[in-house]
Amino acid sequence: MFWFLLILAISFVILSILGPFLGTKWVGDKGERAVSRRLWFLPKKKYFVINDLLIQKAPDRTAQIDHVVVSPYGIFVIETKNIYGYIHGTDTSSHWQRYWRKNNLSFQNPIQENQTHINALSKVLAQFPNAQFTSVIAFSPRAQLQVQVSTANVMSWRKVFFFILRQKNPIIPLEEAEQIYNNLLTLNIKGRQARKQHANQAKQAVNQYQSHVSTSIANGKCPRCGGNLIKRTGKHGDFYGCSNYPKCKYTC
Ligand SMILES: [Zn+2]
Repeated sequence: MFWFLLILAISFVILSILGPFLGTKWVGDKGERAVSRRLWFLPKKKYFVINDLLIQKAPDRTAQIDHVVVSPYGIFVIETKNIYGYIHGTDTSSHWQRYWRKNNLSFQNPIQENQTHINALSKVLAQFPNAQFTSVIAFSPRAQLQVQVSTANVMSWRKVFFFILRQKNPIIPLEEAEQIYNNLLTLNIKGRQARKQHANQAKQAVNQYQSHVSTSIANGKCPRCGGNLIKRTGKHGDFYGCSNYPKCKYTC
């Protein structure tokens, strides 16, 4: 009897901790899980959350959106980046940089990436006059954000929940917000095949950029602006930098 009660108590504790998350899909990367777990706690009468939304944006192209929160305070479109280190970037630069020891990384400007998502959403939601979007880029708390941006909200994914709650300016009638949410649910592509295709599409784009970077470097050219790469000596040894420094800060 004692053991039975103990097991019952333990399972109760485990379930009460896990309960809120059981509806959350345990796929996607760590960042997407961290964000969807937090979004789950938004009041459900006003905030409608869709994680991992895949919509058709053209006959042959899809858009995968990490998180969408539809609310009377706007439609929050969240792009999650599980990238740590020192992050540099601006609104307009085509790529952002991560500096971390020798592991530098160049990745697509997430604000522009998210803007293509917002464009795709506004197209499929054209019949809703009040559909207004707020772009949010959610980084790992291990990222040091040294970015200069004004067109999107770039923050640690720990702050997303409170950021959304703080927006209190009603712009979409609740009924319309519900309709928008239901519309997106209908448009969400569920099929495994389509999702696989999208993943391949994304992989191809990344490969294309990476091969552009390696050919440029092999030719002694800066992959970002086409300037010459010049050998320089820094605190941590030799490195190559762009001849257009300080306008272009590319290094490798
Ligand atoms: Zn350059």
